Amino acid sequence: LPTVPIFGIRVSKVDMKATVSYLTEAVRNREPHQVITANPIMVMTALDNPAYMEIMKSAELVVPDGTGVVWAAEYCKEPVAERVAGFDLLHELLRQGEVYNWRVYLLGSAPDVIRETASRLQTQYPRIVISGYRDGYFGPEADEEIIEDITRSQPDLLFVARGADSQEPWIAKYKSRLNIPVMMGVGGSFDVISG
Ligand code: UDP
Repeated sequence: LPTVPIFGIRVSKVDMKATVSYLTEAVRNREPHQVITANPIMVMTALDNPAYMEIMKSAELVVPDGTGVVWAAEYCKEPVAERVAGFDLLHELLRQGEVYNWRVYLLGSAPDVIRETASRLQTQYPRIVISGYRDGYFGPEADEEIIEDITRSQPDLLFVARGADSQEPWIAKYKSRLNIPVMMGVGGSFDVISG
């Protein structure tokens, strides 16, 4: 995909439709992708945290979520096609998942929030398979068990909602073991979906 470098982070320039097509190919080919929905706070964090910068640089796909990132691309005279908001991409991927009966694992947020999110998404997208879900309040000692639960359920998509400072490092740390075509941090999205 064509990208524009913003402080060395390669941000995708394509629109929502092309982003979804690209990730559909990733699912078809079982190629693992960490998808980061970049906003200025994340870019600023990366600028004074080398470990976080490394995560942003090694993500297989970074999309321009924040309008500040869209603006930065324009400023570099390499405009992106449009803003690709994480919340919209989540829904577009589920809509696409309806066509292919994708399996989806939901990780993060409080227990009641994630339960309600799983139920509402299943109602809204009846043809996707919720392969599993679990809340996001756990420490590193639970990682092994959680990774096992996720991989056993063989999802096509994994959405992680734990706040940007922790969800992106968590995905980056385990992505080669998780080996899921689409692994994406979704911040507060489940709080919105669950109402
Ligand atoms: N969250 C979580 N585990 C944590 C901290 C936060 O699952 O240890 C969830 C929280 O319930 C919320 C989501 O992560 O659903 C995003 O949190 P927040 O809005 O605080 O983070 P931000 O997106 O602002 O970075």
